[in-house]
Amino acid sequence: MVQVEAIKAYNDNYIWALQGSDNKEVVVVDPGLAEPVFAYLKEQGKTLAAILITHHHWDHTTGVEALKQAYPHITVYGPKNSPFTQVDVALGEDDTFSVLGCDFKVRTTPGHTLDHICYIGVGLVFCGDTLFSGGCGRLFEGSAEQMWQSMQVFRALDDNTQVYCTHEYTQANMQFAAASQPNNADVLAYQRQVEAKRAQDINTLPSTIGLEKRINPFLRADEIALSALPPQYRPQQDDAAGKFAALRAWKDNF
Ligand SMILES: [Zn+2]
Repeated sequence: MVQVEAIKAYNDNYIWALQGSDNKEVVVVDPGLAEPVFAYLKEQGKTLAAILITHHHWDHTTGVEALKQAYPHITVYGPKNSPFTQVDVALGEDDTFSVLGCDFKVRTTPGHTLDHICYIGVGLVFCGDTLFSGGCGRLFEGSAEQMWQSMQVFRALDDNTQVYCTHEYTQANMQFAAASQPNNADVLAYQRQVEAKRAQDINTLPSTIGLEKRINPFLRADEIALSALPPQYRPQQDDAAGKFAALRAWKDNF
């Protein structure tokens, strides 16, 4: 049985800490800072076993160097063909590996960046800045078409899969989800839950794939009514990828 805890960093990053059944070792995902990870390990009396990196951005990788210095035996897993070069095991599509007795499979999910990968296993997905609860990452390097293809990776997962993304963006995302899906009762119900949690500074993650399939406008772009889009964002191309691109452009200015 694995347990996942959130280590907070910066304004809204979560560094996910995965613990195996032996309860001594921890694997962290996307350590954008080392200090909060050191503090967590000290407080919990645990040691670091490995690091998983989803993509090269500084707020996901800055802690790696200091953590590797303090724990030289650890393995850093990360994407192949990445500008981030402090990776020990470079991973690509469908590669598999095991940490803390948990088997993970890698899927490439370009769009936010071209090197972005996700880690899928033991009923969880660590999806970095690709899928957020109620939203998706901005297109810094890839195309809308690529990101829409990446969304299909998540749509294919079991509904019970727990979704661990890197940022607490859910509240703002749900405002957009409500604007783009005014008749979706699941969106309005979840938005109320999220507002209540955030008012008490409670973490809204993990989400689940089943929930995201019902509420996330980017995951269900093919279901969005064209009439919900403001006229200036109505797509040229009336297909799912075209609607996805239009939603992303609208959200960028929302
Ligand atoms: Zn990023």
